[in-house]
Amino acid sequence: MADDSRRVRDLERPFDVTAIRRDFPILEQRVHGKPLVYLDNAATTHKPQAVLETVRRYYVEDNANVRRGVHALGERATNAYAAARETVRRFLNAPDPDEVVFVRGATEGINLVAQTYGRAHVGAGDEILLSEMEHHSNIVPWQILAGEKGARVRAIPITDAGEMRLDEYERLLNGRTRIVAVTHVSNVLGTVNPVAEIVRIAKSRGIPVLIDGAQAVAHMPVDVQALGCDFYTFSGHKIFGPTGAGVLYGRRALLEAMPVYQGGGGMIGQVTFERTTYAQLPNKFEAGTPNIAGAIGLAAALDYVTAIGLDRIASYERELLAHGTETMAQVPGLRLTGTARSKAAILSFVLGDVHPHDIGTILDRAGVAIRAGHHCCQPLMARLGVSATARASLALYNTRDEIDALVGALRDVRKVFA
Ligand code: PLP
Repeated sequence: MADDSRRVRDLERPFDVTAIRRDFPILEQRVHGKPLVYLDNAATTHKPQAVLETVRRYYVEDNANVRRGVHALGERATNAYAAARETVRRFLNAPDPDEVVFVRGATEGINLVAQTYGRAHVGAGDEILLSEMEHHSNIVPWQILAGEKGARVRAIPITDAGEMRLDEYERLLNGRTRIVAVTHVSNVLGTVNPVAEIVRIAKSRGIPVLIDGAQAVAHMPVDVQALGCDFYTFSGHKIFGPTGAGVLYGRRALLEAMPVYQGGGGMIGQVTFERTTYAQLPNKFEAGTPNIAGAIGLAAALDYVTAIGLDRIASYERELLAHGTETMAQVPGLRLTGTARSKAAILSFVLGDVHPHDIGTILDRAGVAIRAGHHCCQPLMARLGVSATARASLALYNTRDEIDALVGALRDVRKVFA
């Protein structure tokens, strides 16, 4: 209740995008003589001063290796790294910081689960259930596993609007399904999947669920306990943190039972040439010197978005999405790919028969940065019947004016190809 009233109060605070933009120095530049309009946030986001300053201060004042330091700097670095883990726990509302494993990013989080939980539980003839809208990083690790084990990867179909077919999902779940791994938000379609419902259905059959949160965490509040998922993974660089630092949340009972991932320093209990015992969680899954500065910078990024409020960010981005959807639809020949009822602020499109790479190049000359290609979703492109799309993906620092600049530049693309 107290939480609800805080959320309502938060939503009533005005969203000051001008002040937010001042936090991101990179946005002030001009590209090809035009103000930069950065709409490639699904690929990576920019970093606010708070993150840059935290990483800088760590290297200037505290830099040391973690875990074993008996000196002051070692202790400060170890404490800062532990505090970063606690920040992630709070951010995801995970029950326990030991359930938070620092990884390189969502890709490594998924590979870790495939190579540990997957190796232990998936056998010949078993099935791994994904969806047609997955990023390659939530397909290939499972295919590698399936290839090793003689298992099969299956995909939940989607509708033409880009929504997951829950009826088909239920039909595909069966006694051979060992894990369900689906994206929270599609990086191409923007679809926000009903992950709580997906988890509920799988759990009613005793099947664990991994959620790829790479495109969700920067745009909406995430509560792993409310979702009920077994694994949740995301990359720091897509939520205003540094590259090379990400998170895998896993339910304690599963993480404890899982075999180890990589071997090396930090993940051991005792080592002899005959045998090795392993450390407790979370060190068990963090072999070698971790990305200490990355984790600390990531925590600063989570503090940054938390202070603004993820509900407010979501509500602001909803307005931007509505404006973008409406104005882009007026560009002759433009067709949006991804029109789900529940969408994050991602606008993928095709424009007549203009190749998306040409669109991207012409837009770049106008200072507008978008992405063009298959977006690491080749099976989804095949489902949509296109080889590539152009994609504008928004974040909390984007403005209506920037969307208008995009739409103006798209009209110019039309003229070039008229
Ligand atoms: N999953 C989704 C939905 C993504 O959009 C991405 C990156 O674009 C990833 C996973 C992989 O993230 P990373 O390359 O940071 O590991």
